[in-house]
Formats: sequence, structure tokens, C-alpha cells
Amino acid sequence: MSVNYERELSVAIEAVTEAARLCRAISESISPETMEKQDRSPVTIADYGAQAIVSRVLEAAFTNDPIIGEEDAGELRDPAQAPFLEALRAEYARYDWQPSADEIVRLIDRCGQQEYCSRFWTLDPIDGTKGFLRKEQYAVSLALIVDGEIVVAAVGCPNLGTSVDESVTESGGTLFTAIRGQGTLQRSLNEQTTTRPVKVSSQSDLTQMRFCESVESGHSSHDHSAQAKEILGIQAEPVRLDSQAKYGVVARGEAEIYLRLPTRPGYQEKIWDHAGGVLVVEEAGGRVSDVTGKPLDFRRGAKLTENRGVVVTNGTCHDRVIEVLKQVGVQ
Ligand code: AMP
Ligand code: MG
Repeated sequence: MSVNYERELSVAIEAVTEAARLCRAISESISPETMEKQDRSPVTIADYGAQAIVSRVLEAAFTNDPIIGEEDAGELRDPAQAPFLEALRAEYARYDWQPSADEIVRLIDRCGQQEYCSRFWTLDPIDGTKGFLRKEQYAVSLALIVDGEIVVAAVGCPNLGTSVDESVTESGGTLFTAIRGQGTLQRSLNEQTTTRPVKVSSQSDLTQMRFCESVESGHSSHDHSAQAKEILGIQAEPVRLDSQAKYGVVARGEAEIYLRLPTRPGYQEKIWDHAGGVLVVEEAGGRVSDVTGKPLDFRRGAKLTENRGVVVTNGTCHDRVIEVLKQVGVQ
């Protein structure tokens, strides 16, 4: 009998939408000086703040579900960090929520599961923190994993228009959602009523393909992707975006390929950087694997210990991309 995950999805949508609203409010308060100094404090407040919101919504609906989240509140317990918690409480008060500082810390730390178990959520409260600071792309990504399979995803991209032509201020950003077996939908983060299904591009001519990758060359090797692009015969320059917005862009057919190529030997990808995006792309008809072509293994706890890098495509070119990555020495 198939399990119905409608309720999980609607709770995930509520959690991600509320968290995205907080992130947007904090982002709007970031001044140019903050960006110049690369002052991480707004990111910190938004990271912790979004994690506590998602934790609260999930706790109310699914009290016993563990959460593997990116943040832990360790540093916040230091009395020197009291101003951060006060700033957060002031943000929450704007939405009629008045948690104590202890309650915020407790909610953040509820997301501290590390080990694999048969049913858990994984959360990146702000994926693409550099993009958040630059007022470019970032994402709030939440996924439910059951028996090692991603079954529900909600990925909110507050700075991504609902299409390339739409200004973000109109739409309030884009929310991608998926339930395994039921396709991927997108809607505006502001106005939840108009949803539309999204599909990957059907392009199969490599010369016409568009690919995306991280802005940060420390997160994905731009050198290797440039060599692969050359051999594949891709003509367009890569589109560089922060965060899981890249998965959204492939899912709705605005790019055919997203490459995440290891920059150093020991790095292991974190599950919260991928789980939401992976389901969004797979349910839109695309394919995801690591750079050797192996499926991503979400049964290993917080990290993808059995995988190296990530390759996301519309499906038509997947095997060829893997072949070429081998050729250019990516492993
Ligand atoms: P992106 O926005 O695609 O550049 O990815 C942001 C994510 O990259 C962050 O959430 C980090 O968890 C992750 N990250 C940090 N260091 C590395 C690395 N060396 N390789 C791959 N990902 C990384
Ligand atoms: Mg991240």
C-alpha cells in the first residue's frame, strides 16, 4: 500500500514559507556596509531563526520525527551571544511569536540528529549563505527521508522569480515542492494558490545545453567544469548561482545540467545541501547521481559519505556527462 504524504507536504510548505519570510525580512535589513564588511551576523540571525521556525512547525505536527539540520545552538549558549537571541526575539515578535531565549535554543537543538534512522527530516535553513549576503540566490530546503528515500521536498528560493521573465518582487520568490511519484510543482512564495507543474528540458543536443554551477569555486571545481564543457561541445557560458536554486532551475527546464565537482579529496557533501533539490529534479523528470554515476546514498547520516560530488541533468545527457567527467580526471 502506498503511503500518502500530503499532510507532510503541507506542513513542510508552511514551515519553509514562514522561514523564508523571516529570511527575506532580515535580508531587507542588510545594509551595503554589511555586505562590504562581509559581516556574517545577519546570516547568523537568519540561519538560526529559520531553523527554529521550521523546528517549531515540525514539532507541532510530527513531534517524534528527528531532524538533521545544519545549525546547532552551541555558540548561542555563550552569554556573549545574548544580543543575537534578542535580535531574533525582536524579529519573531513582528509575527506575534514570543519565545524565550531558552525556547529558541531548544528548538534549534532539536535539529541535532546525526545518525541515519528510518524516518527523518533534513533541513538547510539558509543554503547559499554567501548568496544571501550578496542579496542573490539562497534557499530554505526541507526534505523528508523514509527508508533512505527522499519522499517529500519543499525548497523555497526567495530571490528566484517564478520564471526568468518575472521580477522577484512580484512573486516573492519561488517555492518548489514534490512528493515522490507525484511530480514537481512550483508556486510563488507570496501567493500559494497558483501552482504549476514543472518539467525538465527535453533538449538532447549537447551544443544547445545550458549548465549551472556554484558561484564559489571553492564549492565546485570551475576548472574541471570548463574542461568538461569543452569536450561536451556546450557553447553557452555556465550560469553561476548559489544554493539549491540550481536544482530548481534544472527542474523547470531553464538549464540542462548542474555540476558540483569536488575541489579537494576529503570533502563529503552534506545531505541538507541536496535532499530537497534532488527530489525536485527527479520528480520533474531529471536524473541525479554522484560524479561516478552512483546514486546518492541518503542512508549514511548527515553526510553523503559514499558519494563524490553531484551531477544533475535533464536525463538525456547524463551518461555522456559522467563519461566526460572521467575523461577530465574528476573522481
Ligand atoms: P553553493 O551555494 O552551491 O555554492 O553551495 C553552498 C554549500 O556548499 C554550503 O551550504 C556548504 O555546505 C557547501 N560547501 C562548503 N564547502 C564545500 C566544498 N569544499 N565542496 C562542496 N560544497 C561545499
Ligand atoms: Mg547549505
